[in-house]
Amino acid sequence: MPRTFFVGGNWKCNGTRESIVKICEEFAKGPSVAEAPVEVVIGCPFVYIDYTREKLRKDWHLAVENCWVGKGGAITGEVSAEMIKDCGLEWVILGHSERRHLPQLKESDETVATKVAYAVASGLKVMACIGELLEEREAGKTQEVNERQLAAIAAKLKEDDWKNIVIAYEPVWAIGTGKVATPEQAQEVHEQVRAWVASNVSATVAAEVRILYGGSVTAANCQEIGGKPDVDGFLVGGASLKPEFLAIVDAYKAKQ
Ligand code: PEP
Repeated sequence: MPRTFFVGGNWKCNGTRESIVKICEEFAKGPSVAEAPVEVVIGCPFVYIDYTREKLRKDWHLAVENCWVGKGGAITGEVSAEMIKDCGLEWVILGHSERRHLPQLKESDETVATKVAYAVASGLKVMACIGELLEEREAGKTQEVNERQLAAIAAKLKEDDWKNIVIAYEPVWAIGTGKVATPEQAQEVHEQVRAWVASNVSATVAAEVRILYGGSVTAANCQEIGGKPDVDGFLVGGASLKPEFLAIVDAYKAKQ
């Protein structure tokens, strides 16, 4: 079965009601993808979820950008996977490099993995992000870092859980920097990630799991990266706040 192309947006901590209306109006100008082999999911801040659902085209879906590590309760300010599910949402982005590396957040591999496992067990689908820092790439540790982050997640999942996981490979040095990985660099890592999944989870999961590339994806570079055999789509930050996101969604045609 071919892997359906997947384009995720990540609005991060950006937006106002006014900017959301404007960008949703722009997005509405693109052709319907209801019948197309592409899944589009926009990650949106919690407080704007309902508003965005009202304004966003109905053939695109919504994700939240984080959730609590386990069951809700006396955890002030957090949002649980059960609440997200209760509000009719399907997707959550977890393990984003900003949450792993910002000094105020510093989520460990273990925390990310626990969140992923709990979210999936609660009936959510997860965009699970992995990726190396610049110094790790320069030290030749790209594969080691990605495999360590993946291994932490895999250790907490059953094989069947992988149906609800999309892996987003996002080299940290490419996020929000304008320094995109070359198509060859992206393909090299995606191939390693898929091989790791084949050896450590199963050949079936490796063949089926979608591996997205994230890091300064734009309308100008998406076709070439998206055409690589192990790239199954994108996770897009900055450009998901702009009309050019429509052209990135259209990159599913690079597979046809
Ligand atoms: C991201 O935040 O996941 C991301 C890839 O950002 P950008 O596209 O802006 O590099």
